[in-house]
Amino acid sequence: MATLILKRGAERRIRAGHPWIYRSEVADLKGAWATGAPVDVTDSAGRFLGRGFYSPRSSLVCRLLTRADEPVDAAFFHQRLGAAWRYRLAGGLVAPAYRLCWSEADGLPGLVVDRYGPVSVVQCLTLGMARSAGQVRAALEQLFPGDQVLRLDDPTAARIEGFEPVRETREGELIVEEGAARFAVSPGGGHKTGLYLDQRDNRAVVARLARGRRVLDAFCYAGGFACRALLGGADSALLIDSSAEALTLARRNLALNGVDQRVFIGLGNAFDALRELEARGERFGLVVLDPPPFTRRKDAVEAAARGYKEINLRGLRLLEPGGLLATFSCSHHVTPALFEDICRQAAGDAGLRPRLLATLTQSRDHPVLLTIPETRYLTGLLLQMP
Ligand code: SAH
Repeated sequence: MATLILKRGAERRIRAGHPWIYRSEVADLKGAWATGAPVDVTDSAGRFLGRGFYSPRSSLVCRLLTRADEPVDAAFFHQRLGAAWRYRLAGGLVAPAYRLCWSEADGLPGLVVDRYGPVSVVQCLTLGMARSAGQVRAALEQLFPGDQVLRLDDPTAARIEGFEPVRETREGELIVEEGAARFAVSPGGGHKTGLYLDQRDNRAVVARLARGRRVLDAFCYAGGFACRALLGGADSALLIDSSAEALTLARRNLALNGVDQRVFIGLGNAFDALRELEARGERFGLVVLDPPPFTRRKDAVEAAARGYKEINLRGLRLLEPGGLLATFSCSHHVTPALFEDICRQAAGDAGLRPRLLATLTQSRDHPVLLTIPETRYLTGLLLQMP
């Protein structure tokens, strides 16, 4: 096995519990290496730090899979996926649809596995993980005998890492339950692996608070928040998304739940829609703002902040007295503190003084590792007008 030797000092972050190694931190690569194969990682004095897949194309050339001298083989994947499953069983997080494995947070950087009923959907995000997909599949077949495994790689990650994304689909839709709701899922036929599982806990929060309220679900995608709000007793819902395909999924879910009566659906840019609703003097008892990431880059955070500020300013102005705003950011580089700051500025500019009822985050089946801040990406606030 080849050995990746770090520059002096570069081991500090690794020793502090972070698994990432950038190309700029590498002093030397010794021995016969192969793209996507495991390499040993040592500090500048040759002390063993761990082992991970080597990704020569990416600036993130290695993410440690283990800090022990153990083979990265079928048994390794079985052990790690088994541990991820047991964590979720113990925490009551196993559900008809849930995330079984969340990359770094489950000790398997570059691997995401979501479960939809009897189907495991596997996303490989690194070259090494793509090369190990057979072992991952075998481990899942052992853990969940008889269940189907679908591989659904993320094309963006595949391009960065330099592998051909595999995208397997299946005939027909799966129906999964989430609280009182049922959602139609077609892995490969939409975003993510089928559902935004990371918002499951927050959709439950919205469901509990929705009774009697007029709801605006902006950036609704498949209408998850609106469905749960309506089942929770909301009076009516307005759903807005700029994607016609998303709205087709939303219509399907609303019908599936029998809540497609008191519903209005608008195809268009939510920025414009929020402005128009405000101009018309419309008011809502519950507004959900769940936009896509406004930036994926650190140097674009300021522009993203302007976008978040604008929609939150308008979202707050649309609230009736006592109205609730559930607002989110899934931009990795927008920290909870920054997001709160942006919303504070939005409230200040709008001349409004909402209460901060709760700080929201990704569902608990997307665990956050304290030593890997990047495992937390979804942040949100629940605000209420006096
Ligand atoms: N709330 C959803 C997930 C939202 S994903 C859930 O819980 O399942 C973000 C959505 O925003 C996508 O459906 C995307 O089509 C939509 N979108 C992106 N830009 C938009 C814009 N400018 N206006 C309206 N919708 C937009």
